[in-house]
Amino acid sequence: MDTPRGAQDRPYRLARRDAVPTGTVVSVGDVRIGGAEVVVMAGPCAVETAEQTRAAARAVRAAGVRILRGGVFKPRTSPYSFQGLGPEGLEILSAAARAEGLAVVTEVLSPADAPLVARHADILQIGSRSMANTALLVAAAATGKPILLKRGMAATLEELLMAAEYILAAGNPGVILCERGIRTFERATRNTLDVTAVPALKALTHLPVIVDPSHATGDRRLVPPAALAAVAAGADGLLVEVHPRPEEALCDGAQALTPADFGQLLARARAVAQAVGRSLPSHAD
Ligand code: PEP
Ligand code: MN
Repeated sequence: MDTPRGAQDRPYRLARRDAVPTGTVVSVGDVRIGGAEVVVMAGPCAVETAEQTRAAARAVRAAGVRILRGGVFKPRTSPYSFQGLGPEGLEILSAAARAEGLAVVTEVLSPADAPLVARHADILQIGSRSMANTALLVAAAATGKPILLKRGMAATLEELLMAAEYILAAGNPGVILCERGIRTFERATRNTLDVTAVPALKALTHLPVIVDPSHATGDRRLVPPAALAAVAAGADGLLVEVHPRPEEALCDGAQALTPADFGQLLARARAVAQAVGRSLPSHAD
């Protein structure tokens, strides 16, 4: 008799839905990712200066955000592009976050840097280009910090879940999955947002799923509709690039929202969240 292709056949044992039937909630301070609230993480693509990072932190906090993003180790396509400030950037980022009472998510590019990044960050990001770097997955997992795992730009959901499995199997249960657009034949957008990945992943795994509408679209005019679609599809959170002066950004300026546009997006996202039975609190003082 043929075996149905059921959950018991799936190669990811720890990530599969029925391993944690109630769903995993990843806690960062008092922020719960995977609970009833849609959690927004926002900030610049890259940490450029202390002033720029402080301004971004102030802006996202004013919009109600509690987790600041900012890259200091940047996985750039060109070796001639700005590569990030490295360790000095970690100091700038964590100081800006502390000043505003925010948590930090930042990318780790190399296994050797994982302990250093973990000293400054509350969540370690594994970028799209690194999803299949198993040594990095294991090193990041070993820090014990929650891991924001981005889908490889040409990875299937099963491959994403197998990457998550490396982190879970290393004894770290705090994995947040992130859909950030995949490579298709389409050139009008930077990537193609696979919005269906959200409900599909929700059916396959207990892990929280967030969406990055910035890298998915590459164009600030497309970021708000993509973000709203993600919330409508059931995303547990958003990762959004916001820059105090996008025209001066050293990295990904075309997709960076201004603080004003970001504030407007969150107001609309709040309404969409409510329409689908979630909330997106403003956390305003
Ligand atoms: C990022 O979020 O800074 C980034 C580089 O994104 P991705 O890995 O999705 O390209
Ligand atoms: Mn970017």
